Amino acid sequence: MKYALVTGGSRGIGRAVCLKLASMGFPVLINYQSNRQAAEETLKLITEKGGSAELMPFDVTVSEEVDSAIETWQSAHPDDYIGILVNNAGIRKDTLMVFMQNEDWQSVINTTLNGFFYTTRRLIKGMLSKRDGRIINMASLSGLKGQGGQTNYSAAKAALIGATKALAQEIGSRKITVNAVAPGFIDTDMTQGFNEDDFKKMIPIGRFGKPEEVAALVGFLASDDAAYITGEVISINGGLYT
Ligand code: NDP
Repeated sequence: MKYALVTGGSRGIGRAVCLKLASMGFPVLINYQSNRQAAEETLKLITEKGGSAELMPFDVTVSEEVDSAIETWQSAHPDDYIGILVNNAGIRKDTLMVFMQNEDWQSVINTTLNGFFYTTRRLIKGMLSKRDGRIINMASLSGLKGQGGQTNYSAAKAALIGATKALAQEIGSRKITVNAVAPGFIDTDMTQGFNEDDFKKMIPIGRFGKPEEVAALVGFLASDDAAYITGEVISINGGLYT
């Protein structure tokens, strides 16, 4: 069986992606860092709809945890492989650079960029031998245009976009595609502190996006129909200029 692993699948966009991939018939591995209750809710929502999923907790910033979780799963599933990877886990710690602490910088880079590296490096081995794979990285509008107050986050997402383009060139010949999705403002815990009324004036569609709308794009990129799309960054932002 071909499985899909979604990092940060417990909440927000990651949860919606888990539900979408499960509805497409893929058994889903729901990764999370600490919020087990939310991850179990994602699992419940999938199984209620007849899908199949299991929890796979690990901290994407800790290389040994990533390797150990995936190796444990692989030993229990010798005939299965993880053919879809959605690198979605992310955090933000916004502040002006003049006030930014080392930890604000390092934790945001670690989660988005090192998390991508540790998880993807481990999983491409299996995809290369199967000559099949889909890797979808959750970037951001901030990684394309830069955002004041988010130098750490913008740097992490811009670097993720660079890595997406480079890796796509490395492994395209093995039928593995690597793409990035760049959402604008999406209604999740991450944007809870934002006043939608202030921001929506700037958004031509006039509202924040829904996690399910991002998940629909990820589902397409994970599908056979997207076999000829690789190394791309696809914006989903309600028309915000990038
Ligand atoms: P949420 O804050 O709602 O969810 C974050 C998810 O990431 C949670 O599942 C969390 O797990 C997980 N996570 C965080 N750190 C780690 C870690 N070290 N290891 C494993 N999992 C981790 O975020 P969103 O759903 O809003 O965002 C998802 C992605 O989309 C992020 O990469 C974000 O940068 C990106 N994005 C979001 C936008 C938005 O407007 N919401 C816009 C553009 C991009 P747990 O539940 O255990 O804490």
